[in-house]
Amino acid sequence: MLEVEALCRRFAGVAAVEDVGFRVAPGQVTCLLGPSGCGKSTTLRMIAGIERPDSGAVRIAGRPMSGAGAFLPPERRPVGMVFQDFALFPHLDVAANVGFGLRGPARQDRDRIAALLERVGLSGHAAKYPHELSGGEQQRVALIRALAPRPCLMLMDEPFSSLDHRLRDGVRDAALDLLRETETAVVMVTHDPEEAMLMGHRIAVMRRGRLIQEGRPDELYNRPADRGVAAFFSDLN
Ligand code: ATP
Ligand code: MG
Repeated sequence: MLEVEALCRRFAGVAAVEDVGFRVAPGQVTCLLGPSGCGKSTTLRMIAGIERPDSGAVRIAGRPMSGAGAFLPPERRPVGMVFQDFALFPHLDVAANVGFGLRGPARQDRDRIAALLERVGLSGHAAKYPHELSGGEQQRVALIRALAPRPCLMLMDEPFSSLDHRLRDGVRDAALDLLRETETAVVMVTHDPEEAMLMGHRIAVMRRGRLIQEGRPDELYNRPADRGVAAFFSDLN
């Protein structure tokens, strides 16, 4: 579903992402894990098309998005996004925000929108405006807004970070259910090794712009490429 090949991006001569490549199959979740500043968000933004790679290629569902001469803008990519700084439209209520990604009559499909809101514990909030919601509630609206159009690829940057752990499990499960329904491929950035182990079919560990190791959670746990990778998982039992 997603093929990333040798992506590179420099800022003012300094490499933020260097030679990063991996693949994600339909219905699979790959978690990008690594310390602050290692290039996770830049990688995600290049897959989304918000950031242009200096070199390398991105293909989604077999179609080139960027690479040799081609560059498809973000709005033309079959991609849903939930980013750290992802803002809701302040002038639209919750239902309209969720409906925004839907096409045609589905945009006013109140039943579908209500069902989505219920899945993330936000029934009764449809008529509220973003400023009337808490940070965690806004994050959940952003999540279902991205999922509503059933994109074939979902990119998520710390999507559960402002939820307390009591809420987090429920919203995580709801998101996974929705993603499974449509065999959506997912790339999810997280700082949390436990979350990566829990959600990732595969984990990609980055450090200083490079991909250090990519594999199934048990492979990384049992055969870490180096001490840095081992350290991520050493506290988990
Ligand atoms: P965090 O976990 O803190 O979100 P990250 O792994 O997502 O970190 P990135 O945001 O990808 O890290 O940044 C990687 C490097 O590139 C950092 O050193 C950052 O300062 C730099 N960088 C990112 N975007 C820009 C930009 N637009 N201009 C200049 N430097 C940038
Ligand atoms: Mg980031």
